[in-house]
Amino acid sequence: MPAFFDLHRLLAFLKEGFRLSVWLLLLALIFVPLERLSGLRPQKFFRKALAQDIGYYFLTGLAPGLLLTFPLSLAALGAHAIVPYRMQAFVASWPLWQRVLAGFVVGEIGFYWGHRWTHEIPFLWRFHSIHHSAEHVYFLISSRAHPIDSVFTRLCGLIPAYILGVASPLTPTGSLVPVLIVLVATVWGFFIHSNLRWRLGPIEWLIATPAFHHWHHTLGEPRDRNYASMLPWMDRIFGTYYLPNQWPSSYGTETEVPHSLGRQLLYPLLPPSEVSLTAPDATELVYRG
Ligand SMILES: [Zn+2]
Ligand SMILES: [Zn+2]
Repeated sequence: MPAFFDLHRLLAFLKEGFRLSVWLLLLALIFVPLERLSGLRPQKFFRKALAQDIGYYFLTGLAPGLLLTFPLSLAALGAHAIVPYRMQAFVASWPLWQRVLAGFVVGEIGFYWGHRWTHEIPFLWRFHSIHHSAEHVYFLISSRAHPIDSVFTRLCGLIPAYILGVASPLTPTGSLVPVLIVLVATVWGFFIHSNLRWRLGPIEWLIATPAFHHWHHTLGEPRDRNYASMLPWMDRIFGTYYLPNQWPSSYGTETEVPHSLGRQLLYPLLPPSEVSLTAPDATELVYRG
């Protein structure tokens, strides 16, 4: 048997694929009827781009888990070595709810800046522009991201939680905090991308909503607003908040992004001249309302 064939790994991979399929089914059962009943814009669910969005869903579900283990272990070890033991022991003594709450707040600060850097630093924007290339925003767009983009912003969100010690290995529930942060942020990500016309009144001040994040995807002005994933007051603090009563008229980016999934994954890593942006292939991205 070749050394690279590992039955346990293959089974674990298949199990993860099955778990993601069940989640996708659940998400579809929740959001497809809701978007039909309370949709902001009429959209066909079954369209050409759906195959690509589902491809990204599985890629975003599988890749960060594989790519994050090593940098997160390094971050945990680094934080353990740098942060004074008394500080770590103090934070570790907090009850779980307090560590989860603190984890959400520091995680959101990290995510906010990680996300903002993906807009402001041209090399990072090459990866993040794929998320913004969607011309129709609906729940599955949440997972439409280059794996390196997903890993970068997740790391930016999780590293502060390790540094503060809320994800400390000193407590038996330490590893539960980052898992909870990622789980809640992922579920919320599907909601804020959904094609729902709901406005939530004063709640919009406290927590990110579809209207808040739809403005992050606007093709018109103002751009580069609303970076937070869950706590919109981060944008108020850092001066990038924008939430009027109306909705954006169109979504997308002026940055040219290749049409096919394969080219989208490759092009951020190559010099611009190396990749054809427009040559169509089987997974061509065409959005038709
Ligand atoms: Zn963005
Ligand atoms: Zn988005």
